[in-house]
Amino acid sequence: MPLISCKNCHKVFEKPNYDNFVCDRCNHVVRKRIHHSLQVSLALVISAILLYIPAMVYPMMEITKFGVTTESTIIEGVISFLEYENYFIAIVVFVASVVIPVVKLIGLLLIFTSLKIRVKMSNKTKLVVFKFIDMIGKWSMIDIYVVAIMASIVQMDELFNIKGGIAASSFALVVVITMIAAYRFDTRIIWDE
Ligand SMILES: [Zn+2]
Repeated sequence: MPLISCKNCHKVFEKPNYDNFVCDRCNHVVRKRIHHSLQVSLALVISAILLYIPAMVYPMMEITKFGVTTESTIIEGVISFLEYENYFIAIVVFVASVVIPVVKLIGLLLIFTSLKIRVKMSNKTKLVVFKFIDMIGKWSMIDIYVVAIMASIVQMDELFNIKGGIAASSFALVVVITMIAAYRFDTRIIWDE
């Protein structure tokens, strides 16, 4: 008798075959494998990587100092925070907008390609990397909040403003698309040969 786990609530069922059925605990349709899970998640990760480029290249913030407004990208913003000795904010913004998304995208890309090409990496390691990525995913929007909070804190001598636009929308899309890619990925295929 095959054992099948619900992808949504992880309840394990013992069924006579691999036909689809509805989970009696969460009403989620349980399938043996999510259709084209790897292909869809891989396509989403590639889209997220491409969207990360405009998020970095286009200005994200407006900094007004002595009445002069300059636009700055995320990285330039981090550098200005460092120049104004706001080290904590600089680190938080850098980690949230560069370190976390890059680690997530590279990690997911690595897991997905490792399922296509033979890579020396145990299935357990792949699962641990995936779980880690899934966990940090929830914290990626943090820098939008941090910069918004900063805007109110540092108004004493200079003014930081979030400038919506291409960079902010692209960054938000990167975060959301990466989350969908991780959510839609069927970890059970790691164990398929
Ligand atoms: Zn369920």
